[in-house]
Amino acid sequence: MSLDWSNLGFAYQETNCHIRYTWKDGVWSQGELIKSPYINLHIAATALHYGQSAFEGLKAFRHEDGKIWVFRADMNADRLNSSARQIMMAELPKELFLDAVRRVILANKEFVPPYGTGASLYIRPLLFGSGAQIGVNPAKEYTFIVLVTPVGAYYKGGLTPMRAMVSTDYDRAAPHGTGHVKLGGNYAASLLPHHLANQAGFPMDLYLDPVEHKYIEEFGTSNFLAITKDGKYLTSKSKSILPSITNDGLCRLAAHLGIPVERRPIEFAEIENFAEVAACGTAVVITPVNEIVYGDKVYKVGPTEGAGPVLQKLYNNYTAIQWGEQKDPFGWLTPVED
Ligand SMILES: *Cc1c(COP(=O)(O)O)cnc(C)c1O
Repeated sequence: MSLDWSNLGFAYQETNCHIRYTWKDGVWSQGELIKSPYINLHIAATALHYGQSAFEGLKAFRHEDGKIWVFRADMNADRLNSSARQIMMAELPKELFLDAVRRVILANKEFVPPYGTGASLYIRPLLFGSGAQIGVNPAKEYTFIVLVTPVGAYYKGGLTPMRAMVSTDYDRAAPHGTGHVKLGGNYAASLLPHHLANQAGFPMDLYLDPVEHKYIEEFGTSNFLAITKDGKYLTSKSKSILPSITNDGLCRLAAHLGIPVERRPIEFAEIENFAEVAACGTAVVITPVNEIVYGDKVYKVGPTEGAGPVLQKLYNNYTAIQWGEQKDPFGWLTPVED
């Protein structure tokens, strides 16, 4: 494989195949590795009309000894099922999910980037209603796909802080809606506010709670976390945010390192007490945020360049575990074996 591993971005790169399963009459198929990246779909599939579709995102890493390891896939299996229940899709037995991930990686081994390039294999499971249904009802047939694509290291140098804008005209989620599950539809709704924030010069949009616009929820595609001036790891608690696996991992890592962890509703006004702020998610792990603009007010947080010391430490430890450079005390890595 002659890919320029060190210069891969986060873009779809064609691989050998994806794996595909179909659910009909209560039974999942055995799964098939398919070369073509196209799918022949019924024009009345519920995913297309009614957004009955959910996805996941996780990564596999090649360690220095050449072995491939998947990071916390069991968590993604559980979360995809929680999305499935919310929008009445067939659930996936955990074993099927994990086996799908393993099989598709093995079939695309040469696309798992070499150790030392910072690049990894991004894994995208997708579950959607593929059965034809013109009335608004759950489909009677489902398709589960896992595709993989190599992605580059996000940071070429050190961590780079970004600016965020509080979204005042749009909400990401409704108070009792679907913000807590990973649905395609949530992302459709976020495209316009995200585009507008980008146009205004902000790569990130920060959402407040949809009831009072008083509490911090999360960034458009990543959770919110802050290191308080008294040294705590603070992250939002709300029924309408997506339970990030990265955030869960960072909380556990912080506790392991002796940093107190607090998960509770956070008022925006508390921003004065934050020493460091970041977004977290699978793609980037940690994105430091050094400026948050809310209406005509500008709030500066943390250092103007790089990350603050606590975020940097968490990032270093978390990624060292992923790359097998540091002991994995949590059992987060699973080897991918024939
Ligand atoms: C996927 C996602 C995240 C990040 O979750 P990870 O499991 O850490 O990748 C955060 N917020 C939203 C809205 C998401 O969809």
